[in-house]
Amino acid sequence: MFNKIFRLDRTQNSMNFDSIVDFQLSFLLYYASIVHTGLLILSLCFFALPVSAYYFVTLVMFLICARFIDSRNFILIHFLTYIEITLHIYLIYVFFGVFIGIELYYIILIPVGCYALLMSFSRNLKIFFMLMIGSVNMISYVCVELVDSLNAVTLPPVYRIFLTYNIFTAFGMVILQSYFFIDMISRKFSNLQERSSIFQHQANYDMLTDIFNRREMTRRIDAALKQYNADRAPLSVCIGDIDNFKSINDTYGHNAGDYVLKTMCAIMKANIRKSDPFGRWGGEEFVLMMHTDLDACYNRAECLRRIIESHKFDFEGKDIPVTITFGIATAGDDTPSVSSLIEKADRMLYKGKKNGRNQTVYT
Ligand code: GH3
Ligand code: MG
Ligand code: MG
Repeated sequence: MFNKIFRLDRTQNSMNFDSIVDFQLSFLLYYASIVHTGLLILSLCFFALPVSAYYFVTLVMFLICARFIDSRNFILIHFLTYIEITLHIYLIYVFFGVFIGIELYYIILIPVGCYALLMSFSRNLKIFFMLMIGSVNMISYVCVELVDSLNAVTLPPVYRIFLTYNIFTAFGMVILQSYFFIDMISRKFSNLQERSSIFQHQANYDMLTDIFNRREMTRRIDAALKQYNADRAPLSVCIGDIDNFKSINDTYGHNAGDYVLKTMCAIMKANIRKSDPFGRWGGEEFVLMMHTDLDACYNRAECLRRIIESHKFDFEGKDIPVTITFGIATAGDDTPSVSSLIEKADRMLYKGKKNGRNQTVYT
């Protein structure tokens, strides 16, 4: 009987929203089956045969409903569950009166309706569910109050047993439903949060090297330039371009080229401050931003250049010689925008390339 629950539990890690709904619905239907088995036994104990017959029918109905989960017939499940609970309440009035706590089951109908809202029902069907739940509950409540005021009699002991049973099962069900309902929403919410952080990472980072992409670097330099205009605290950028990268691709293959790009970014990342934004500007061009003056920026760039020059880039047993040229520039009145600041650094880079590569240029 708990196969479905166990099966879904085992795949908990890969649970999507639908499978959580499956799991929770099946759990509740099985819970309802157990509750009705209890009621069947209780009614048999007191030889209330018509009531026993009714519980038997509803027990079978819940078990059949549980089978419908596989075919995703949620409308039928909800409809049958709702009909059963409502019918149950009215039949109990007829047989027992209002003294055995059956009105407690009204509150179960509320989460049943809430589930309906979460399903992919049409808007009209959702409104129908909510209106039905609202009106039936309201009418039922008025009836209970009315009948209750007309029957001021003391409870026979048998009724007390049913009352205790109904208090426990009704509240048990409400607590379970509330737990599942909140749990379902929080899972859906955390799932959305997880997905949105993945999308955000994809939007801001370069896929190959896992450093910032051009868009994110532009955004960060732009923000830093605005800050610079306000406080004039030193701000520098450094643009690096791998030397003769085309020939690395041509000689060792494109995969070797990718390996060089990834390794070089990892080396650079490990040798800069975490707070200094570093990103891929183009194919084999990188930009590093620092809140320092030109001298400090030059020293950092030179340090990186020497580390890269001396690093052994070993790809499939082949030693690839890799060097990089840096051009650096500092923010000033002549760099009102990101593009003007980058262009200033780019001019230095171009000089470095013309002068023989593998160097850092700042004037
Ligand atoms: P220079 O020293 O003047 O910079 O010469 P270069 O060959 O490095 O310069 P160029 O800009 O002409 O060549 C860049 C090459 O980088 C061209 C392109 O095929 C390669 N490239 C760009 N993006 C990637 C990438 O993601 N992976 C690989 N393997 N190669 C790339
Ligand atoms: Mg290059
Ligand atoms: Mg280039």
